[in-house]
Amino acid sequence: MNDLPENHGRPGNSGTVLEPGIHYVCQRCTACCKWPGDVRLEAEEIPMIASFLGMAEADFLDHFTRLRTNRQGLSLIEKANHECIMLDGKDCRIHPVKPAQCGGFPNQWNFPGWRQVCEAVPVAITPSQKLKRS
Ligand code: SF4
Ligand code: SF4
Repeated sequence: MNDLPENHGRPGNSGTVLEPGIHYVCQRCTACCKWPGDVRLEAEEIPMIASFLGMAEADFLDHFTRLRTNRQGLSLIEKANHECIMLDGKDCRIHPVKPAQCGGFPNQWNFPGWRQVCEAVPVAITPSQKLKRS
């Protein structure tokens, strides 16, 4: 993973290349859950995730979050091996309510060279299908 660009894992980075007419279907290889870096949490996601875990928001924040690297917002914490704290084997513990950063890769954001590290399969779609998926 050392050859990944420095800004991988950041939605909205300047290297994002989107392909009209193509939707990439995740194969749940979990590679994107193992990259070092922030898993950005937005404020509106916190109550949903805390509720899904059956926790008070304050407890969820204490146990599972930290400041982002740029100190402007929160991120999920990672394990010592850099996996996301929510990765449990091949499964995401919070899959139904996972952060938008997770659900948006690689169709809403990506980075140069992402296809070398992601197993998602390209599927051709029509413009109306694209609208439904976004
Ligand atoms: S790296 Fe790609 S295929 Fe693997 S879990 Fe992430 S989005 Fe899915
Ligand atoms: S929240 Fe879930 S999908 Fe997102 S990085 Fe963590 S384990 Fe992966």
